[in-house]
Amino acid sequence: MFNGDRPFISGQESEIHHSMWSATGGERPESVSLARQESCDVLIIGGGFNGVTAGLHCAERGAKTILVEAQEIGSGASGRNAGQVNPGQFLSPEQILRALGPDYGPLFLKELGGSPDIVRQLIRDYGIDCAADERPIIRCSTTPQKTRELEAQASDWQALGANVQMVYGSELEEMNGSTRYKAALIDHRGFTLQPLAYVRGLARAAVARGLRISTGSKVTSLEPSGSGWIATTSDTTIKADKVILSTNAYSNDLVPGFKEEIMPLGAFGIATADPLPLEWRERILPHYIAMWDTHKIPLWFRYDPVGRLHVGSIGFLPIHSEGDNWVNRAMKFVYPFAPTFKWGYRWSGTLGQTVDRLPHLVEPRPGIYATIGCNGRGIAPNAYFGKMLAKIALGDDVVTPLPLRKSTKYPMREIALEAYDAGIRFYRNTLLFT
Ligand SMILES: Cc1cc2nc3c(=O)[nH]c(=O)nc-3n(C[C@H](O)[C@H](O)[C@H](O)COP(=O)(O)OP(=O)(O)OC[C@H]3O[C@@H](n4cnc5c(N)ncnc54)[C@H](O)[C@@H]3O)c2cc1C
Repeated sequence: MFNGDRPFISGQESEIHHSMWSATGGERPESVSLARQESCDVLIIGGGFNGVTAGLHCAERGAKTILVEAQEIGSGASGRNAGQVNPGQFLSPEQILRALGPDYGPLFLKELGGSPDIVRQLIRDYGIDCAADERPIIRCSTTPQKTRELEAQASDWQALGANVQMVYGSELEEMNGSTRYKAALIDHRGFTLQPLAYVRGLARAAVARGLRISTGSKVTSLEPSGSGWIATTSDTTIKADKVILSTNAYSNDLVPGFKEEIMPLGAFGIATADPLPLEWRERILPHYIAMWDTHKIPLWFRYDPVGRLHVGSIGFLPIHSEGDNWVNRAMKFVYPFAPTFKWGYRWSGTLGQTVDRLPHLVEPRPGIYATIGCNGRGIAPNAYFGKMLAKIALGDDVVTPLPLRKSTKYPMREIALEAYDAGIRFYRNTLLFT
């Protein structure tokens, strides 16, 4: 049960190389050995999309910047996700406006709604080879009520000029090869990529511009020093004017209270050992779109760049045979005609959920900045947030789409962690398939 850090019974995360993405993730970025004592303008802790994008912008600006990562670049959620570059949040535009009010809501919708374009631009500008695929992402409805909700979202987004539309019945079946869903929202702003290749590519671009990255360097303490901070790892101490804390759902007690802002939720992926034979690719997701659905614990499907089929959902991956039984059931549920495939990759990761389902911009201590809790929407938003955090750390006057606050605790976090864990497992194994 809840072990103080991770609530999930099978919450032993697999190594990053168990992920399908490691098969096609490209070269690891260069890592340097740091001296016993270092100093910098900006220290970034954590090497996922958030930290690496922040590091890229700091380096572009000529700031002396060091990024330390406990494991390797992308080994947190960034190298484990489904690679859906989704513009929207889980909330509808109307809910976002209500939650953030007139000062932040409209800016949030504009900036975050446009954030997939920032990812496209980064890929273009830095020539990142990450199998970016412009086919759109569809969100399939599981009930008539959910269809009405998606229709309302589609019309809200259309009113804001976004290229989204609904698709129904046989047209949808033609796109995804399944009769399970009767309606879906297609979001043409979104696209897919290979997430590990993307974050490694960003990191290589940042290194080429002067960012010093040290992997296998876990920060074990962070103490105030004058107007800045001193971080300690097993090999070095780093004095920094400002700190960007990019540890998100992998945060520990380095900055007490920070991790309590979110609830860490597991999410997992299972993928076929080999590319599916073409005859099956013509019937399962024949247009190679990525899809996810409106179940409370959503199911998602896509292909990797070479044609392996990837299925994922929320919660930690139940270990091997249980996981394979689950994915076979998921396939029978959505593609009853499919044979039993040979699954070769099984991995999980941790994402951060906030109580209001929106990311938070926090300054947990003076001079330490973070965005935390992307609620499963971390690729595109972090392309925006990384740059924003870099600007804040470098002292720019930044108009932000979120209020900058001190850390606050997720209400009744310990109880919520237990409840979510039990609820997710129950839903995933029973209600999902009814
Ligand atoms: C299975 C799964 C599927 C998902 N699917 C999607 C999707 O399709 N689309 C989407 O937009 N989002 C998706 N997400 C969410 C997305 O992956 C995350 O929001 C995003 O990766 C968060 O990036 P990050 O840089 O903030 O954190 P992370 O990538 O988690 O990086 C945090 C890093 O901090 C490091 N760290 C922690 N503590 C220390 C320390 N003390 N010292 C040094 N380093 C430290 C960790 O090792 C880790 O590498 C998914 C997430 C999961 C888990």
